[in-house]
Amino acid sequence: MFDNLTNRLSGVIKTLRGQARLTEANIQDALREVRMALLEADVALPVVKDFIAHVKERAQGQEVLASLTPGQAVIGIVHQEMARLMGGQNAALNFTTLPPAVILMAGLQGAGKTTTSAKLAKYLREQMKKKVLLASCDVYRPAAMEQLRALAQQIETDYFSAEAGQSPEQIALAARDYADKHFHDVLIIDTAGRLAIDEAMMAEIQRLHEVLKPIETLFVVDAMQGQDAVNTAKAFSEALPLTGVVLTKLDGDARGGAALSVRQVTGKPIKFAGVGEKVGGLEAFHPERMASRILG
Ligand code: GDP
Repeated sequence: MFDNLTNRLSGVIKTLRGQARLTEANIQDALREVRMALLEADVALPVVKDFIAHVKERAQGQEVLASLTPGQAVIGIVHQEMARLMGGQNAALNFTTLPPAVILMAGLQGAGKTTTSAKLAKYLREQMKKKVLLASCDVYRPAAMEQLRALAQQIETDYFSAEAGQSPEQIALAARDYADKHFHDVLIIDTAGRLAIDEAMMAEIQRLHEVLKPIETLFVVDAMQGQDAVNTAKAFSEALPLTGVVLTKLDGDARGGAALSVRQVTGKPIKFAGVGEKVGGLEAFHPERMASRILG
């Protein structure tokens, strides 16, 4: 998953594990290595600084001094702090609303929004026994609507077909009406993505948010984009009351920067991870497990 980062950190871990006693200098050296590894993995600088400061403070405390295996204690602290950085615990979707629970999907084009909408529909149906309706408000790219319709068919989930000439808000409201009448528990609304953030795009999704009042507004972001992913997430979180993030393409050659920074930079929990192109490639995001994977 984050091979480079894991490889870099494994050297530090080996050194720490091998030491029966730890001096302040040993700890400093190890943390310098961790800092370099995180920066190379494209973790945002303020996040790295904060992280190292936390680990350092704890590593100099009783927890380590009193330990019979101080190296192991430091590794434990790095693990815990890494999980904390990614949110600590899994943040579940909120369904405390009258059905249909509306989930609005936001993000740049190519991030994996449409694929994730379908993956999420399948996940909710299979794992949570929800009746789901999928709808696309991307009136600019008929191919995007067709992509969602085809995915919906593949996963045998209902798809709301828009009428020609309807605006994104009209489609969204009609889809919600339909979901209401047909007793869907969840309505997932895919939206238009753009190649870059622009005002028209933000205004459109803000209007959709206003008329729909979704219980969940998920920002879908490509983990391969590293720091760019985090900057985009920040811009969206300032424009829209996001309730969570979906990190996609974690199965690719991601460097780890997005996974480790996005929570702290946006303040929004990572709720899911995309781990493959197929409709089954979605996992609930568990910071603890992710930290274990990163540390190898
Ligand atoms: P959208 O423009 O944001 O709707 O993006 P799409 O859903 O069309 O996805 C863009 C590309 O990313 C497609 O080729 C998807 O198959 C691919 N993709 C989406 N999520 C993942 C993922 O988690 N892993 C991998 N490897 N590819 C993904």
